Amino acid sequence: MLERRELFPHVIEMNHQARRRFGCSVYLIHSGSEWALIDIGYEDTAEEIVEMIRQMDFPLAGCRYLIASHADVDHIQGFEKAHRLLSESSICGHPDAARLLKSRDRLMTYAEIPAQNISIHLPEITIDQTVSEGDRLKIGELELEVWHTPGHTIGQLAFRLGNLLFSGDNLFRDGCVGNIDAHHGSDIQKFIQSLTRIRDSDVEWLLPSHGPVFRKDSRMIQKTIDRLEGYQHMADFGTCAVDWPLLDQWEQELVDGIDPTKT
Ligand SMILES: [Zn+2]
Repeated sequence: MLERRELFPHVIEMNHQARRRFGCSVYLIHSGSEWALIDIGYEDTAEEIVEMIRQMDFPLAGCRYLIASHADVDHIQGFEKAHRLLSESSICGHPDAARLLKSRDRLMTYAEIPAQNISIHLPEITIDQTVSEGDRLKIGELELEVWHTPGHTIGQLAFRLGNLLFSGDNLFRDGCVGNIDAHHGSDIQKFIQSLTRIRDSDVEWLLPSHGPVFRKDSRMIQKTIDRLEGYQHMADFGTCAVDWPLLDQWEQELVDGIDPTKT
């Protein structure tokens, strides 16, 4: 039997458990004989992760949920393989994630980035149970509270368990956020709302979908929010920005007949 390396009571993160990096964070939440996973990562590590779980003495039939934090291929590709081994479980995700997976949308899930020759297998994954804001997922004696936190993508979820927030791709320990990309359904204003909600909540720990867990620090989140506020007015973010003040200035200078070579 493998010794369980719990990060918090009832919570194991599989990269931390293995002491090496598989890919995205894979959280196992357990209570009694029941357990669930948030994300699984790529399919080439899915069987190994399930085998580790078996060796930690969790009954495979006790898996209630395979939960997609969102539909990005690096988080969910392994669900098809894992579900074959964990056939008692339901695959859960936001209705937007369910729609993207049902239509096998290769762009919105990052399976395909043509400009960079990235083309990754997106298996057929069916979300059996859609969950959204305010829903609760029971795992033994525990209840995960579902938060809808759009911004990185439309169907991004986070999950609260007591003083812990499984925070998805909302925020990472270095203050970075999940990438902002119009083709991925990113929305900076909604992102700021999601980060503000996390900042103002009384959760103590953030358990992100990439990188190590970290203590919630409102000042650090504020710095990130301020940066995103700036993005809303920068050409760097293209159609994700709400405006570009330089164009208004230019218009005024044109109307005023100002010669920019003479200022
Ligand atoms: Zn991600």
